[in-house]
Amino acid sequence: MNLSTPIENIARIGPVFKKKLKKLGIKTIQDLFFHFPHRYEDFSNLIPISEIKINEICTVHGKILEIKTTRTWKRRMFLTQAVIEDKTGAIKVIWFNQPYLTKTLKKGNNVFLSGKAIISKNGVYLSNPIHEKGDLSSNLTHTGRLIPVYPETAGLSSRWLRYILKPLLTNLENQIKETLPEQLIKEYNLMPVKKALWQVHFPSSVELSQKAQDRFSFEQLFYIQLFVLRERNRLNQEKAVSLPIKLKTIQDFVKSLSFKLTDAQKKSAWQILKDLERPRPMNRLLEGDVGSGKTVVAAIAALNTIKHGYQTAFMAPTEVLSKQHFQEIAKLLQDFKVNIGLLTGKQDQFRSKKLKNQVIEISRKKLLEKIASNEMDILIGTHALIQDKVKFGKLGLVILDEQHRFGVEQRAKLCKSQDIIPHLLSMTATPIPRTLALTVYGDLDLSLIDELPKGRKKIITQVIKPGQRKKTYAFIKKEVKKKRQVFVICPRIEKSNNNEELSEAQISWAKVKAVEEEYEKLSKEIFPDLNIGILHGKMATKEKENIMRDFKNKKTDILVSTSVIEVGIDVPNATVMMIEGAERFGLAQLHQFRGRVGRAGYQSYCLLFTDSPAKKTHQRLKALISSEDGFALAEKDLEIRGPGDFKGTRQWGIPDLMMSCLKDISLVEKTRESAKQILIQDPQLKKHPALRDKLSRFRQRIHLE
Ligand code: ADP
Ligand code: MG
Repeated sequence: MNLSTPIENIARIGPVFKKKLKKLGIKTIQDLFFHFPHRYEDFSNLIPISEIKINEICTVHGKILEIKTTRTWKRRMFLTQAVIEDKTGAIKVIWFNQPYLTKTLKKGNNVFLSGKAIISKNGVYLSNPIHEKGDLSSNLTHTGRLIPVYPETAGLSSRWLRYILKPLLTNLENQIKETLPEQLIKEYNLMPVKKALWQVHFPSSVELSQKAQDRFSFEQLFYIQLFVLRERNRLNQEKAVSLPIKLKTIQDFVKSLSFKLTDAQKKSAWQILKDLERPRPMNRLLEGDVGSGKTVVAAIAALNTIKHGYQTAFMAPTEVLSKQHFQEIAKLLQDFKVNIGLLTGKQDQFRSKKLKNQVIEISRKKLLEKIASNEMDILIGTHALIQDKVKFGKLGLVILDEQHRFGVEQRAKLCKSQDIIPHLLSMTATPIPRTLALTVYGDLDLSLIDELPKGRKKIITQVIKPGQRKKTYAFIKKEVKKKRQVFVICPRIEKSNNNEELSEAQISWAKVKAVEEEYEKLSKEIFPDLNIGILHGKMATKEKENIMRDFKNKKTDILVSTSVIEVGIDVPNATVMMIEGAERFGLAQLHQFRGRVGRAGYQSYCLLFTDSPAKKTHQRLKALISSEDGFALAEKDLEIRGPGDFKGTRQWGIPDLMMSCLKDISLVEKTRESAKQILIQDPQLKKHPALRDKLSRFRQRIHLE
């Protein structure tokens, strides 16, 4: 047996468990070793029975005096009751619904029990403790120490994982090879991998477990850095077409606008134009708050590309957004003689826009021909753009809206029919905290639009307490009377059915406002005379589109929606953004919702409803009131909610236990510097086969997801 032995070959693992492990992506022993716990339970407090305190976690060791399982007649539940005794005293133990325990635990056995003693009308007893047979000299696995708790997805218990892991680690520990370069281990005083694996799974103290976690945190960040830096180097060696700045055209375009570009827009446009000029593929992320005007900047890049006889592909996440971009880009470029196509889902129509404002519908076949023959200058659309049938004649630039992580792969799919790599401009309204920009987005160059166009009115943001609901509805009515429109955001879609057997978390979730419920209430009780629309992610694309169109065309006054409206929708006439269950959303997301209103000159409002009395909630919401800076809010989100909530962080497969390394700027900088140094000395990692191997597996995993 070795580390790459498939789990099939481990005798102790039966077929059912093999399946479950595979579901978690665990195929080999190595994978098993790197399946980390997500937290620890501290059972190291081993005490005499006489010193047990109510409600305090402890471990005791004693002899089982009696044990039996009965069934309660009322609730038909199994009760296993036992008494255990040591030199200092005895205590009752009760396990609920674990009848199989009497098969392993017998009268006279010496056991360790870890858990809490509680007091009830039946007296004091240890409730559902974890058990482990053995005497005081035993090497403990499940009790009497820091115990790893694994994410129990797919029905794998932590106990079972510990049972499987320990003998495997014992037998194979000598095969575990260090992957980090020796110099880094020394320089940063990192725990060697073998020891760290033991300490992460079976820690002997809090301190050592922390040191093990530190090592793996370093390792995770270091791999990400190596990966993104190598990706950068690789792209820098590729060829792209050089598209020098067509200064006159760009100047004419800027003059044709009905507004003045902000300095931040100018700077970003300039950085992009400079990139296009290089004979290397651009790989740039344009980041700017909602309403900061990214589309104009994208149009400049597209125009410059077109004037060199190359095509631009512009991909957006939804049909609604594709259409919006299509209309906006067509309008912006109306005096510049470009052909623009729109290609979306299967049943949709295709239009080509030629000269001025004539939109003509054409068949898909014709559209595809025009794309292939390079007659189409800009093609805008959804994922439909990356289908096999779509072949570009001369693709020079790919623009992606709100799908930054997979930009590189999508570009690869778009340009499969040509040997020259197009430039890539990815755009996002999600502000990315600095640590993430330097890690998971580290392969991209960054342009920031960090100022909003002048003359926008500040959006009034308020937390609305339960008692102020009526007054708020009256206010909304007044806004609608003024012909303005309103968004209502709810955290979930369906009403909960009142099932009694919900867990606590489920109950609190069930209380959260549901779109369907709210829609009914608003349209029947609160605003029977207004037109109300409903929108959520489970609707068919076509239906969603109709609803959005109705709202845009002012056929509906109020749109009740889930977070699907989050990205990019432009309804200038909307002035109220009302958010139910505001505590359920991250700050950055709330900020994005807020950006949906105030897009024209009208005074706009963002009203945050919350029933949560928690102080933390109110502190968070206050941050939103006091700040309009998306970046500051994102940093705050990272601090409060952790990196897992940020798009594009999960895919890297960082174990939960190490996730917080993405918050640590000094660690990020250290690992980046280390990765740079290694790549300068050894760009192909020839002297570091273990690292190279690890990276190629890393790459596979990222590309698969
Ligand atoms: P986003 O960055 O959210 O995609 P858009 O590109 O949709 O923003 O721009 C939002 C609105 O602001 C559009 O109506 C656009 O025409 C307008 N706009 C863009 N730049 C400016 C500017 N410099 N001054 C005034 N309005 C602008
Ligand atoms: Mg946009």
